Amino acid sequence: MQLSHYLKIYPYEVKPGYLLLFSTKRSSVIVIKEETFQAIDQGTLSPSDEALLTKHGVIVSDQEKEKRDMLGRLDKMNARNPVLNSMVVLNLDCNFACLYCYEGDMKGNLYMSDETAALLIDLIKKNFIGEKKKLLIDFYGGEPLLSLGLIKSISRELKAFTQEKGGSFNFTLVTNGSLFKRQVAEELVPLGLERVKITLDGPAEVHNQYRPFKSGAGSFDTLIRNIKETCDLVKISIGGNFESHNYEQFVFLLDHLIKEKLTPDKIGAIKFDPVSKRPEGDISPVDYNGGCMSINEPWLNHASIFLREEILTRGYKTPKISPFFCMVDNKSSFVVNFDGDIYKCPAFIGKEGFAVGDVRNGIDDYTRSYKLGLWKNHEECAECVYLPLCFGGCRYMTFIQNGTIDTLDCRKDYLDATLETFIKQEVRYK
Ligand code: SF4
Ligand code: SF4
Repeated sequence: MQLSHYLKIYPYEVKPGYLLLFSTKRSSVIVIKEETFQAIDQGTLSPSDEALLTKHGVIVSDQEKEKRDMLGRLDKMNARNPVLNSMVVLNLDCNFACLYCYEGDMKGNLYMSDETAALLIDLIKKNFIGEKKKLLIDFYGGEPLLSLGLIKSISRELKAFTQEKGGSFNFTLVTNGSLFKRQVAEELVPLGLERVKITLDGPAEVHNQYRPFKSGAGSFDTLIRNIKETCDLVKISIGGNFESHNYEQFVFLLDHLIKEKLTPDKIGAIKFDPVSKRPEGDISPVDYNGGCMSINEPWLNHASIFLREEILTRGYKTPKISPFFCMVDNKSSFVVNFDGDIYKCPAFIGKEGFAVGDVRNGIDDYTRSYKLGLWKNHEECAECVYLPLCFGGCRYMTFIQNGTIDTLDCRKDYLDATLETFIKQEVRYK
C-alpha cells in the first residue's frame, strides 16, 4: 500500500507523538500515531490499521492509478448525483441599493412572466428523469420575495409533480431578508421551503452603509427582527461580505446575534466571504470601487482564519472544507434568468457568450463557452494535492481579473496558507 497522493500531513501540537492527516479527496481528518505513519512506509501496518486507513483515504493500492482516477472524478460525481438543481432568478428588482451588487446596471423593473415560468416548469420536468430523486430550486433575485406569487405557484406545481414521481421537492431563498416575515415563512414552509440565506454585512453601522434600503434607510434592525420571527420555522443561514478594512468588525455582528438570542441552536450556519470586485465596465447603482480581485490576496489568509475562528468559538456552524463541485461542472445544475435565458453560473447572468440556451429550446452544449476541464490541460493540476478542493477554481474569479475564463483561478497559495489552520479549527470545535 502507498500513501494517497491527496494527503496533507500536519504536526499535531496538542497530542505529542501524533500527526494530523487530511485527505483532500475524502475531506476526512485522521489523527494518527507517528509510529503508525512510519509503518505505512515500512509496510508493517497491522491489518486493522490498514483497513481503517484505506477507509479514510490515507493509503491506496496504487498512487498513479489514484491520480488517473481523479481525472474522471467530476464525471463520476455527475453520474452519481441524484439531485436536479435549478437556480431561478425571478426578477432583477430589489428594494435595497447594495454598494457592491453584481447585478448593478442590469437591475430594474424586470420580472419573470407567467409564460416563462410555465416553460421553466416544463424544462425542469423534462430534466427530472433517470436517477434523479430530489429536485432543489434556489429562488434568487434581485429580491425573490418581490415575486412571492410566482414562488408559490412554481413550488405548488413542482411539489405535486415530484410527489407523483416518488421524488422529493425543496426550495431555498437567497433573500435580502427584509420581506421575510413570519406569515411569509408560514406560507412557504409547507410548499417546500427548507433554507433561507440572508446577508448581514457586519454590525448595524457597517451593514447599513453597505446594504441600505433604496430610500437610504438602514435595514439591519428589520433583518434581525425578521430572523427572530422566523428562525423556529425554517433553517436560516447568515452570509456576509467583508473587505480588508472592515472584516474585524464582523465579530461585533456575532456578539450582537448572541445578545439578540439568535444563538447557535437557532441559526443554520454562518459564513463570511470577501466582496467580489465587479468586472471593468460594470457600473454599480452606487459608485463603488472596492472589492477583492482574487482569493490569493494575502490579507484574505488572515481574514478567513480569523472570521472562521470567531464563528466557531461562539458555537455557530460554518461549512466544512469539502470537495469542490462548481455549478458549471455539475451537469444537473443550471440557472434560469427572469427572461428565460439559461446560464451555468449566476455570476455570468447577462454576460455576453455565457447564455447556454433558454427555457423554450433547452440547454445547448457549453463545453467550450465555459471551458470545461481546463484544468486537465495543466500538468500542475494533475499533480496538485489540492485538486479535489479546486478543479481549477472559480471561473468568475478568473473573469473579473482577466475578462476571460481562459486561465485557472489557482488556490494553491491560499490553501498552503490556510488549510492547516482550517483543519485544526475543525478538529478543535468538533
Ligand atoms: S464559476 Fe465560481 S461563482 Fe460560478 S458557480 Fe462556479 S464557483 Fe460559483
Ligand atoms: S488551479 Fe492551482 S490549486 Fe487548483 S488544482 Fe490547479 S494547481 Fe492546484
